[in-house]
Amino acid sequence: MIKITKFLAALIGLLSSQALVAHKTDDSTGWSIAIHGGAGTIERDRMTPGQQAEYETALAAALEAGAKVLREGGSAIDAVKAAIMPMEDDPNFNAGRGAVFTWEEHIEHDVSIMDGRDRSAGAASGLRLVKNPILLADAIRVDGRHVFLSGEGAQQFASERDFELVAPEWFETERRRESLERLKTEKVSALDVDHKFGTVGAVARDSEGNLAAGTSTGGMTGKRWGRIGDTPVIGAGTYADNRSCAVSATGWGEYFIRVGVAQEICTRVRLSGNPDYQSAADEVMAEVAELGGDGGVIVMPSSGEPIFSFNTSGMYRARVTADSAVEVGIFGD
Ligand code: ASP
Repeated sequence: MIKITKFLAALIGLLSSQALVAHKTDDSTGWSIAIHGGAGTIERDRMTPGQQAEYETALAAALEAGAKVLREGGSAIDAVKAAIMPMEDDPNFNAGRGAVFTWEEHIEHDVSIMDGRDRSAGAASGLRLVKNPILLADAIRVDGRHVFLSGEGAQQFASERDFELVAPEWFETERRRESLERLKTEKVSALDVDHKFGTVGAVARDSEGNLAAGTSTGGMTGKRWGRIGDTPVIGAGTYADNRSCAVSATGWGEYFIRVGVAQEICTRVRLSGNPDYQSAADEVMAEVAELGGDGGVIVMPSSGEPIFSFNTSGMYRARVTADSAVEVGIFGD
């Protein structure tokens, strides 16, 4: 029964993601950006109109922050940072402020960013004090000596530079604390208490045709033993390569790592020579579902037509291109 339900949910998600594809016609040289604020059990009848409006406003504002950079001739990597920061600051998303609690009642952020021009990448896990983790990820990328820092070391890297640090309480919200308490007392899973993955991410193409992707999260409620999800793992939660595409993922991280989702989508298209990114993304997400995982991706092909694919009932998402209107979506329909 569970399997059938999952299969149906996957099918609905995939069909709806197809239906939402924006069709850019002739001009594929312009800038373009897409963002997500997590996928999961997001259904119209479980959300008040007020909540829906709040999410839509937040998504539109984050999208516009990134689009502004691109419109003014900025780079894809700067647009990705600009779009992610407001979502890190917004307690409605599981990133930066409002991130979920670990089993030991801390908040530990995972983050990564990648530049499709040279495949330079920066990532960090277990951050507790950096106000905007995506900025730290990019500083690691620019520094270039290492790709992936963790815990104390990542914190030291931040302290040696001019990063805005905040007290751990700044990230904490009552709602997330209640989720952890429920998870512990009712002995249920992170998916039962959260219903959705609130990770945030962005993919962009600038007017020079360069791609970038970034993803930022608190991970999953009740994570233990220094658990690291897919978000900071280059190739799983984030990937960008000018030769094919840029991807940011959200979902049950263990499965996204096992499938290597973000790179798998880009590599499939690059090696097959068939630029059908929607099918490639849907196929890889179907593999995630087959293994028992769920979630979604945003994909920016080198041609600049942003794509969504998810096997959950909804995904917070938005996109805009130089020559198409803003689209904001939440539910699968
Ligand atoms: N992918 C994240 C993780 O597993 C969770 C999320 O997308 O919200 O850590």
